[in-house]
Amino acid sequence: MTLTKEQVAGLAKKPSCPRCNYDKTIGNALCRRCRAKLPENMRAGLENVPNKDAWAVGRALRAAANYFNVHFQSVRNFGGGRKR
Ligand SMILES: [Zn+2]
Repeated sequence: MTLTKEQVAGLAKKPSCPRCNYDKTIGNALCRRCRAKLPENMRAGLENVPNKDAWAVGRALRAAANYFNVHFQSVRNFGGGRKR
């Protein structure tokens, strides 16, 4: 996933989380609830995204998506997580 500066700005401005549609803070890529599930070193890359390089945010988002896929697959299988 490669993001442009505009995409990062748009993502930061959205009031809802792209993963779970839960309310999120402007400026962050994911909501607090999603970020709380990530290890600290991955979380930092998803906060204050307008101040970061677009490629760094894209990389952080991809890492987060991989983490969610690996660690929360079973949760999704039982109806939690992202809506289909
Ligand atoms: Zn979320």
